[in-house]
Amino acid sequence: MTLGILGGGQLARMLCLDARRMGFRTVVWSGTPTAEPTEGVADVLIKKGFDDDVARAEFCGQVDVATVEFENIPLKTLKAVEEEIELYPSAESIGVSQHRSREKAFLREHEIPCAPFALVNSLEDLERAYAEVGPVGVLKTAAFGYDGKGQVKLTGAEQLSEAWQSVEGQPSVLEGFVDFQCEISVLVARDAEGKSLAFPPVENQHRHHMLDLTIAPARVSDVILDDAKTIAIKLAEAMGYRGLLAVEFFVEKSGRVIVNEMAPRPHNSGHFSMNGSVTSQFEQQLRAVCGLPLGSTELHGETVMVNLLGDMWRGEPRELDTAAIFETEGAKLHLYGKSDPGERRKMGHLNLVGGEGVLERAIRLKLRLLGA
Ligand code: AMP
Repeated sequence: MTLGILGGGQLARMLCLDARRMGFRTVVWSGTPTAEPTEGVADVLIKKGFDDDVARAEFCGQVDVATVEFENIPLKTLKAVEEEIELYPSAESIGVSQHRSREKAFLREHEIPCAPFALVNSLEDLERAYAEVGPVGVLKTAAFGYDGKGQVKLTGAEQLSEAWQSVEGQPSVLEGFVDFQCEISVLVARDAEGKSLAFPPVENQHRHHMLDLTIAPARVSDVILDDAKTIAIKLAEAMGYRGLLAVEFFVEKSGRVIVNEMAPRPHNSGHFSMNGSVTSQFEQQLRAVCGLPLGSTELHGETVMVNLLGDMWRGEPRELDTAAIFETEGAKLHLYGKSDPGERRKMGHLNLVGGEGVLERAIRLKLRLLGA
């Protein structure tokens, strides 16, 4: 069986590696002229734009079923692919999470709790929205935002005009600022028969607005764990979803769990599963997409994932201190095959599984890699 993947970044790379282990062929259509992470890892790599009809014919002509590694693929391309071959999740499901406004409308329609929000298309809208959800809010562009990109925090009415300029007048959403106790996320897979299975919720900590550390399972009450899983499954069912869905949550100080956003694909906060779970998130995506039964989401033990951003490549020439990693008990290194360690670029991650003091060991190693 041949699996087609739209997008050629690290998520596609890790999906290809699991697919290869399981005897599947992979065809990656990167949408870009370079795709370092999937170079030498995909069986076939098509490095052409998503608007290229020849590339689409080449892709669809040699795959049995297709999936995506990121959501920001033109809807037109997704629909055209779907006309020729099976695509999971569907273009419709992916379309919901391409736009914050569509995502929020979907959450509201299905009565799924999220932060108060208002859609903003002009400075007047922003003023009205701020009066409604302020005094502290976060303005987010509706499209193509991730890792805190296209976001501005607002703490006073005098900042509105400048904030509106900083998003360059793009359609946006103003959210009320959530004074959360922690951020957690849940990966849920839904198979061809409509059976859903969630991984244990995990706790996420950020650095420079990007994921820094994931702790699996999340250190919250059983009620909070259950609420997050229930909401994630409800979302997958409401969308008629097939594939792997990541749902990010805020846990409010009161213990209420509310949705921040979702991603129709494997997620950075699910990388713990590569060493910490019986089934990795990539294997689970492959199982759901290819019509196989879902695998166990059981954890082998407490697992900590540390993101390796480019700022951990230090010295001249810049290098990662791999000796520190190999010296650390239980640390598993995953690199994404990127040659340029831009300061905020996701270059790889580490997983540390089980044993006494696993979190402390992970933090010590992270600080050592940062030279702190
Ligand atoms: P996002 O790209 O929407 O996931 O936002 C990136 C990060 O910004 C989140 O993980 C939070 O740490 C923070 N953030 C986003 N929206 C809010 C909000 N409404 N209230 C508080 N913090 C937020």
